[in-house]
Amino acid sequence: MQIKCDVCGKIFKFPFEINTHKHVGKELNGVPVNFWTTLNDKFDLIIDDNMKGVFRYKDLYKKTKKNISLDEGNTPLIKVLDNLYIKDESVNPTGSFKDRGMPFLMNEVLNHNKSSIAICSTGNAAISLIKYAKLYGIESIVFLPQDIDFKKKNELTGATQIVYSDDIIKCFEDFMIYCDNNPDIFNGFLSTNISYMIGLETISYEIFEQLNFNVPNYIFIPCASGGNVVSQYNAWKKLYDNNMIDKMPKFVIVQIDGGNPIEQGYNKKNSESLFVINNPVPSKTILSTDTCFNYFKIYEIIDSGYGFTVSIDDKDIDNIAKTFKDKYDYTSLAVLAAYEKYKKNMRVNEISVAIITAKNRK
Ligand SMILES: [Zn+2]
Repeated sequence: MQIKCDVCGKIFKFPFEINTHKHVGKELNGVPVNFWTTLNDKFDLIIDDNMKGVFRYKDLYKKTKKNISLDEGNTPLIKVLDNLYIKDESVNPTGSFKDRGMPFLMNEVLNHNKSSIAICSTGNAAISLIKYAKLYGIESIVFLPQDIDFKKKNELTGATQIVYSDDIIKCFEDFMIYCDNNPDIFNGFLSTNISYMIGLETISYEIFEQLNFNVPNYIFIPCASGGNVVSQYNAWKKLYDNNMIDKMPKFVIVQIDGGNPIEQGYNKKNSESLFVINNPVPSKTILSTDTCFNYFKIYEIIDSGYGFTVSIDDKDIDNIAKTFKDKYDYTSLAVLAAYEKYKKNMRVNEISVAIITAKNRK
């Protein structure tokens, strides 16, 4: 397993020592963006039924030290309209898709011979990480914005240490300073962590299997820091490069109008530097953002013709989401609003899958 820096071409072997590898213009206040390409080993979709969760995919991640799983994944693909399916990630062990990334992330920590991990999060990732870290006997230090949902705060017991910052931007900064000052602690910045992102790919392998090995025309994915978008793209690209499919789905990148750096940056053909929005609009979702830590990777996906953006607002979500709002978290519902907005452009019989990322934490 190897990865390559898109900027200078340097190749890194597993376990990846990438946190000190930086390039000017490819970070925001010290927080690095994703400029890594995974150099794919030969990959086959061999399922090992003796294993649980993401470890079922034998070819996906070979360097494991412990295979502890909470049976993450294996989520249902639910037909909600003739041509629309929901991939329901809300039923994962801690209620979000983040669980899929944790077993491989914990193994990366172990492969670095470290016993603690730090992350920053808006809530769901922290809840997931704390649970998995405990299972793996790893200490967890979690950076969170002060204003996260109180219901989420109640689920954060079990962390070794919780550090609250004023807002999400300050949270990222505090986290990075802490990691720079504490090199013994594994920097688990999820938006650019390759091991974590490989775990997320299993969403797409399941969709492929659940559609009887057919490729959907569109996959709607909510996009804040963009790790999920890039992971799903990587998954289908792996199938494509290994001749298991003969066409790629189109990735619909769902953002909030006015907090959509990828759409605005792409429209302005801003490909050389990170696009940053001043004062992104407020939203009840976590999708409205000033920039995207996977900006360059997603720009490339759009530029190669494999994806496009759809931007919506909270009103669009309120209009469409009534049926699901008790079950799924508000951010998740953005994909359904985006489907509703875009569907007039689809041909009859085109199949869409909307990835619902988390449950409603009541
Ligand atoms: Zn480099």
